[in-house]
Order: sequence, then C-alpha cells, then structure tokens
Amino acid sequence: MQKYLNEVSFQLDRHITLITPTAPIQPATHGGRAKCLQRLVRLKLPVPRTVALSFDTVKAIALGRIPDTKVLLSVFDADALVCVRPSSEDPDWGGPTTMLNIGMNDAACARLSETLGAGAARALYRRWVQTYAVHVARLDPDAFEEIDEDAPDALEQSLRAYEDEAEEPFPQDPATQLSEVLRSMARSWESVSARLLREAKGAPVDAGLGLAVQEMALGLGRGESGSGVLQLVDPETGLPQVTGRYLSQSQGRDALEAGKKALFLTTDPRGPSLQERAPEAFAELLEHAALMRQRLRAEMQVEFTIENGRLFILDGIVVPASNAAAIRIAVRLSEDAIITPQEAVMRVKPRMLSALLHPQVDPGATRDVIGAGIAASPGAATGRIVFSATDAQASAAREEPCILVRRETAPEDVRGMHAAVAVLTERGGMTSHAAVIGRGMGRPCVVGASKMRFQPQRKQIVAADGRVFKEGDIITVDGTAGEVLAGAPKMQAARLDDAFRTLLKWADAERDLRIRVNADTVEDAQTARDFAAGGIGLCRTEHMFFEPGRLTVMQEMIFAATPEDRRAALAQLLPIQRADFKELFAIMAGKPVCIRLFDPPLHEFLPTDRAGLRDLAEALNLPVSDVTRRVEAMGEYNPMLGLRGVRLGITVPEIYAMQARAIFEATLEASREGDDPVVPEIMIPLVSARREVEIVRARIEQEASAVRTERGRDFTYRLGVMVETPRACLIAGDIAPHVDFLSFGTNDLTQMTYGLSRDDAGRFMNDYVQQGVFEEDPFHRLDQNGVGELLRIGLERARAANPDVIISICGEHGGNPESIHFCRTLGMDYASCSPFRVPVARLAAAQAAI
Ligand code: PEP
Ligand code: MG
Repeated sequence: MQKYLNEVSFQLDRHITLITPTAPIQPATHGGRAKCLQRLVRLKLPVPRTVALSFDTVKAIALGRIPDTKVLLSVFDADALVCVRPSSEDPDWGGPTTMLNIGMNDAACARLSETLGAGAARALYRRWVQTYAVHVARLDPDAFEEIDEDAPDALEQSLRAYEDEAEEPFPQDPATQLSEVLRSMARSWESVSARLLREAKGAPVDAGLGLAVQEMALGLGRGESGSGVLQLVDPETGLPQVTGRYLSQSQGRDALEAGKKALFLTTDPRGPSLQERAPEAFAELLEHAALMRQRLRAEMQVEFTIENGRLFILDGIVVPASNAAAIRIAVRLSEDAIITPQEAVMRVKPRMLSALLHPQVDPGATRDVIGAGIAASPGAATGRIVFSATDAQASAAREEPCILVRRETAPEDVRGMHAAVAVLTERGGMTSHAAVIGRGMGRPCVVGASKMRFQPQRKQIVAADGRVFKEGDIITVDGTAGEVLAGAPKMQAARLDDAFRTLLKWADAERDLRIRVNADTVEDAQTARDFAAGGIGLCRTEHMFFEPGRLTVMQEMIFAATPEDRRAALAQLLPIQRADFKELFAIMAGKPVCIRLFDPPLHEFLPTDRAGLRDLAEALNLPVSDVTRRVEAMGEYNPMLGLRGVRLGITVPEIYAMQARAIFEATLEASREGDDPVVPEIMIPLVSARREVEIVRARIEQEASAVRTERGRDFTYRLGVMVETPRACLIAGDIAPHVDFLSFGTNDLTQMTYGLSRDDAGRFMNDYVQQGVFEEDPFHRLDQNGVGELLRIGLERARAANPDVIISICGEHGGNPESIHFCRTLGMDYASCSPFRVPVARLAAAQAAI
C-alpha cells in the first residue's frame, strides 16, 4: 500500500484523496476541516493519516453509491481503527457528529487487550457497539439503556442487544462498518432538520458536506495517554491565556464533555495538570499551537491526543469565542502583525457587534425576579409577552418590542426570534435550538426556565410564586444573569471596550459611505454621539409630541376651529420644539442634524377609547358626543395613504410654519459666537409631486425671512425631500433642482412598491419567506430587484438634474449590512440608521469598501 503514500499519487480514486501537502483540497470542494488538516500537514505537525471525501462523493454516498471502503482503508495501518469527521464548507453550519473507533471488532478487541488490557479494550468495543447501534444502525437506544457498563459481560450483552434489535449480528468487517458510517453521516446531512438548522445560520440551500477519514490516535495506553483541547486565549474575553481541558484515557472531545472531571492544562488545584503529567508533550503542544496561530492566522482550538506520551494533533478549529472575544482576537492578531487591520475588519461579522450593543439591567435596579433558567445569550431586553413567532412578527411590525415565550423553539421559530427583542423558553440547555440561534442573533435569551409554568394554550406563564403573566404583559429577560424579571427595570447601555473601539477606528479609515443616525430624543442623540455617528440623518419630530403635557396641546391644535385658534395652540408648542431642537444641536456639536417635518396622520394623536375621549372632552371643555363625532370624522380608510406627510403641510400649513420657525430660532440660539454656525437640514416627508416641494419651500423661506428680520441675524439652512413614494423616485429629476438633498425612506417605499402594509405584513411574512415567495422580509433587507431599482432610477435622475444633490437612505434598511453594501454600490453619500445599529453600519460600510 506504500504507493498511496507517495505525494504524487494522493488520489486513490476519483472519490478518495489522501491529505498531503499538495493534494487538490479546497474548502469549496472538501470542506473547511479537510482544508485545515491539509494546512496542519503542510506545517509538518503530527497529524494522523487522513483521507478526504469531496462534497460530490458524499452526495453520491447519500444516494447509495458508496466508494470502495476496502481501498479506502488500505491507506491506513492494517490494524488501525479510524474515525470520520464532518467537513462542511463553513464549520458554523454544523454537521453530523464525529464517529470514532470504526473497525473495532472481536479481532481488534483481542489485539488491543494485549496492549491496553482487557478491561480497556472491552470498554472501547462496548462503547463502539452502542454508538454504532444508535447513530449508524439507528436502533432504539432503550435497548442499551438497561445494560450496566460495569457488568463483567457488558460487552456481550451489548452485542446480543444489537443482534436482537437489528436481527443480524454486529458487523465485524471494518470496511462494512466504514461504509455504513459514511452512509449514515451523508444521509443525516440531507435530513430536513439539519438543512433548516444550517440555513438558519446562513448556509445556501445546496451546501455540501465533505468527510475526513482519519487514522485513530487512541488516547488509551499504559503510558500517559488521553485527549483534550487547547487554545491560547480565553474564549470569553479573547485575552491571551492557555485554556482547555485534558482527560486521561479518553478520546475525541471526551475532555470537553467530562465537565469537572477533566483536568486543566497548566495548573490545576485538584492534582497534576497536563503540563505536570506530560511536560514534553505539553511543550510540544504549545509550540504547535503558536505555529498554528501564526501560520493559520487565527486563534485555533487544537484538538490533540497523547498516546503513550506521544502527541498527535487531530484537528484545529477556529476558537469558538464569545462576540467580545472574537473582536479582541481579530484586533490582537492584527496588532501582532499576523493579519492586516483590513482583515481584522473583515473578520468581524456585523451581527457580533450588535450582540455587544445590547443593554444590560442596571446593577442598581430593583429586580423583581419571577423565574430563572440558563443564561443562554447575554444582554437584557424588555417587551410584551407573545407566544408565537407570528405574533412576534406582527408585534415587530407595529414597532412594539416583544419577548417570544415558547416551550422550546424549532427552526420555524427563527423569524419570530428575529422579530423579538428576547427569547424565553421552558426547556433546553446551552446548546438547545433557542440558545444557539439566540446567541447567533445576539438576542438575549433565557432557556430552561423550568420552575415557571408555561401555559401557551392559555396564553400565560405562571411565576414560581404563583403570579400570572399574560400575553401582552411586560417582562424583562436578562440573558446575562439567566433571570426573568417582571416589568421594565432600569437598563444600562452597552459598554464598549477598547478592542471594539480600535476595530471601529480601523473600519472608519476604510469606509467611504458616511453613517448618520435616526434619532428623535436626547437619549438617542447621546447614544449616537457615543457610537460616533456622523450626524442625525432623520429626526422624526412627531415623536416629540407624544409626551404628556404636549399631547393635550397637540389635540387642541387638531381640534381648532379656525386658523387663528390653531396658531394659538401651535404658539404653545413652539418654545417646546425650539428647546428640543436646541438640545439636539448642542449634543451633535456641529455635526449635521436633519429634521423631518411632521409626518403622521393627525388622528394618531386622538384617543380611541371612551376614557380617552372623556379626558379629551374635559380638556377641551366640549361635550363627549361632540368630541367623539369629530374624532370619527377624522378617521380614514387607509391612513398611511391618506392625509399625512407633506399633504398635511399643504393643507394645514400652520404646523410646518411653526416647526420651521422653531428650527430657525433654535439655530440662532445654538450658534455661539466663534463656533461654526449651525446649518440645520429640513426634510419634507411623503412627497409625490414637484409642486408640493415648491409650495412648502416658499413657505419655509418666508418663515426664514421673518426670523432673520425679527432677530436681526442671518443663517442658512438646507432643504431636502424624503423620497418614499414610487412616484417621487420616478420624478426625482424634477424634484432635485429644488432641493439640497434627497433621502430615501425605504420603509414607506417598500410598503408602497409592494402594496404591502408595513404594519400588517408580519402576520404572513413567515409563510411568505418559508414558502420562498420572498427570499427575505423586504422590510428587513432591502429588495434590490424591485425597490432597489426605484432607488437606482431616482438616484440617476436626481444626480443628472442636480449633480450637487446629497443622496442618502434613512429607512430601517440603513442599518442592514447587505442593504448598506447595495446603497454604497449605488453611490449614495450616507446611510442613516437607528442608534444601536450605528456601529454595525460603520463596520458594514467598511466591509463594503474593502
Ligand atoms: C421611511 O418611510 O423609510 C422613513 C424613514 O420614515 P418613517 O419610517 O417614519 O415612515
Ligand atoms: Mg416614511
């Protein structure tokens, strides 16, 4: 068989490739693990002999075309046992579990009894029979459950149980065992649940699986033998520290599963550590790990086995690090000149940043704990309880934060988890679906809250102390502490460490798309300033009127019988708005602030229930019947397409006049001597005709002149239009000469392009995405083909008519990494997004530019 070891003839046959330094192995054909093993072989590390099966081969195996496993086994030592490891293109996509000890049979057991002792050999054989029975032959695990592993005839009992269940003896032929293992692993990759799971992690529909068949280093023996993992960093913090586990007389990842029984590597208060037991092997291991870090250009988790004092490196995977650690690792690798800053920027997935940006419960807050479970994904969030993924999406569409409460989650809940601010489950552990997916998405998540009673049918959960929380009630999930709290405790904003800031500084040096923030409040603006946003791209002024005290004046204004009455009510709102704007200008300290004039339908400010109507009647000193009638009269069949945005500006001009005046007065008051003067930006919403812009522009200019005359001081401002109706995109060339800037409001634009209500689409979005009608929720990721085409047309026509016009996006898509890439490709000047997405957007913009 020596001929197969010749590096030139690495190809045993079309299907089987011996991993040598020059074999044609690529992640896209044989998977990431096979490629990594080849790199280790190139570094001359002590890797047991391995052959790789390509994606195509494994696909054929799943269809029943198994390669000649006798030929395959001939690569290895005649008496060797082998293992099979999955090798998907991206290790994140998972795969079937590794199968160890293939080839174990009566003869091998007799042979190993001589070297390991009968007890160890028989235990190994028994374990293999049971693993094979359950994972390969798919026999009922119960058939083996009763067998006492310490019984002297445990092996014989297992072989008998196998024969009873399978109705044939346990296969003795190693080639048969290997064929069956390959078949079972190939098939399990094709199963529906495996497919859904990997697709949730971003794998394409046709993602392939490769397999690596490796000669076993046993980890058992009379000299120091065992297995473990080692990494050179702390996976929680990313700081340098040798971490890992080692378990004597063990195999594979036993050491990781052994929990407290496994030894530490360097010092262990419980007894000799690996370093003390096998100093030479340990020193060699450290050397290999350092070489792997340097040459594989990543922090690696090294899987190793020691057999009678001799070290083998079985595998290396990128350290499964926390989000914070992953960022620190990328930064440190770059600081150590192993990767470039650009590579560091490219290595951090935008979602990793968003996970770090989650607020925590303030340590000083009162905690009304109503349940506890496993802290599966960090961060804390407050929202209303919902019991289904569909309700979660509907709630998100209404912009109402919700907590998804489930007994346990399944792949079909993934979209609901996306929509929820946090997830709570009754069942599950650290690696349950909810936990894994929750962490991946950066959603705070508590799983296994088994002391609470979950009664989804009755739409309620019952706390340990008997308190009942129903659908719609507000709770807080603290995924850092693993606790569920009643109500909304005080939160603390996320704290960002130096590595985070360094990475974003590098990102900023690369990007050519500016990032602004959508901020309506002082808190938003402060968060945005901390996240180094380049200014405010959208301040939705209507949110300022919902505060208590202001709402009543707003209602008086809406109910005003004459323009004079309306102006009187607005005169009360003027100083309030002026103060709002002044504060925003001050916080943004010279950075641009874009204020959008009033947008929603007026009746959104009016009460809908009886109590509210009575309150309003009292405030206005009118009969309830009168108020009710007028509220009803203001109702619209289709308010989002009704009297809102610039249409209000045209028909009720006093509102925009007041807002323009408030902006101009605030501008003068905020512009201090010596500093650069504030230059506010004013944006008109929902435009669909050029004339709308001309009329509003003239009125705003009139207000500006009035303020200049009254105050005896000059100022400038910029005027822009929100492009959020399909017609505005099409006539952007007509509009652009009249404005300084255009900002695409892709929320409304998506709604109107699809004819899809942004407030109701959540109800069926799940079905649409699951059935492949939409690849993704178009309110989440910009639809490049349809809505994107309108953006392209709008942009081209606007720039052709006015080359100086500044163009941006301020819909929710402005914080979505793929949409940011697209906007950059179109040539926009900036993207504006919600405050906590600013760092993500900065990173995504840099990645688009690199
Ligand atoms: C938009 O429509 O995209 C937008 C930013 O405005 P709003 O979400 O306030 O309608
Ligand atoms: Mg809009």
